[in-house]
Amino acid sequence: MVCSDYEVLITGFVDGELDGEQSQRLMSHLKDCATCRKELERVKIIKKALDMVAIRTPEDEFWDGYWAGIYNRLERNTGWIFLILGAVVLCSGGSLLFLRNVLFADDTPVWVAVGGVFAIIGIIMLLVSLIRERVRINRHERYKDVRR
Ligand SMILES: [Zn+2]
Repeated sequence: MVCSDYEVLITGFVDGELDGEQSQRLMSHLKDCATCRKELERVKIIKKALDMVAIRTPEDEFWDGYWAGIYNRLERNTGWIFLILGAVVLCSGGSLLFLRNVLFADDTPVWVAVGGVFAIIGIIMLLVSLIRERVRINRHERYKDVRR
């Protein structure tokens, strides 16, 4: 084998891909050949430089997390908005139907009408407080990720 044949072995050695027999063959050649020892050092340096380029910087990960966080929050907030809108539509529509068809029907007993009105007031209060809670949490979350 001539020196150029060892180039592949040197690259493989640096990448840790040689089997025992191959690296033994390379080692015994390196003992007698300064040219290939130099080549080994050169390939090692190149590999180190490539590794450094390949390593992701902490800033990359910060920005990835940053955008993922914004996306998650956007998604969750949108989910909440739809849920609340749906609940408002269903509750107000249902309440109107309930008022018209049950509470103010001629044959509805008074206690059913009173109970129904209380239930509707309770649902509306719960909805309002749910919306207020979400608005308050959103205002908090906006500053949660700010670095101090
Ligand atoms: Zn050589």
